[in-house]
Amino acid sequence: MTSIKIPPEHPRAESLRIREELVEHYRKGVVATAGLIAHGRGEAFDYTLGEKTTKPALNAIEAAAATLLIAEKPVISVNGNTAALVAEEMVRLSQIVKAKIEVNLFYRSLERELAIKELLEKAGAHEVLGIGEHASAKIPELGSERRRVDPRGILAADVVLVPLEDGDRTEALVKMGKKVIAIDLNPLSRTSQKATISIVDNVVRATPKLVEIARELKQDSKKCHRILLDFDNKKNLAESITLIKERLSKLAEKGEYLTLEDEKHGF
Ligand code: ATP
Repeated sequence: MTSIKIPPEHPRAESLRIREELVEHYRKGVVATAGLIAHGRGEAFDYTLGEKTTKPALNAIEAAAATLLIAEKPVISVNGNTAALVAEEMVRLSQIVKAKIEVNLFYRSLERELAIKELLEKAGAHEVLGIGEHASAKIPELGSERRRVDPRGILAADVVLVPLEDGDRTEALVKMGKKVIAIDLNPLSRTSQKATISIVDNVVRATPKLVEIARELKQDSKKCHRILLDFDNKKNLAESITLIKERLSKLAEKGEYLTLEDEKHGF
């Protein structure tokens, strides 16, 4: 898929592969220029988190899976980066939790919407909402093109999964009474701060995990309710921030970069 050959033994092979994937999809018109910048911001936070799914991220993923399964009208909102990185996993998730999929872009153009729709359909989606004139409703209080939503999708939804979202829209959706599940590596972004459930993790790791857990929880609605009773998003978000703080403190004490051996031993 990618045009550059990345040696598998390269210490940052996976990270380079993801970058190449985004660049490739940028060339195809799926990813916006600002999407590449947003990815860089995400990568920086991933470094501070140790590039792995942390315990608080896992707690939030469980709560997200439970919320999506209990929801009446769940919708997965997909942008260019999400489609480029995890189209198949998002489609699988939509099938397990019976969610609709809607394309929602900050930088809207019919070409890009159609390119994303095609990618999602190749990944197995039967219906993709929010394309062109179908995004005929407006989220109140929002100025950007992201305010345009599909009346059959996000407008009517009770739960919206928003990977790599911007803060304004998260806040507006919450104000409309919707439960918003964010996937965002930055625990300090307005999106993470305003969401009902904030998954502080890379969308590349969090989405397959979300699929796996949703599949496990699907038959157990009592467990879903129990998980949600125990989950406190503010507390969980604070734990993600504390983890970063502690990790950086340990690094500062050591005064040098982590060796790969340290990483293997979960330092
Ligand atoms: P906000 O408006 O929420 O304060 P922002 O201005 O950074 O945040 P965007 O530019 O829309 O908003 O940000 C996209 C967000 O997505 C960033 O917070 C970035 O950390 C995050 N991000 C980028 N790539 C990934 C990824 N692969 N997985 C998870 N999060 C990511």
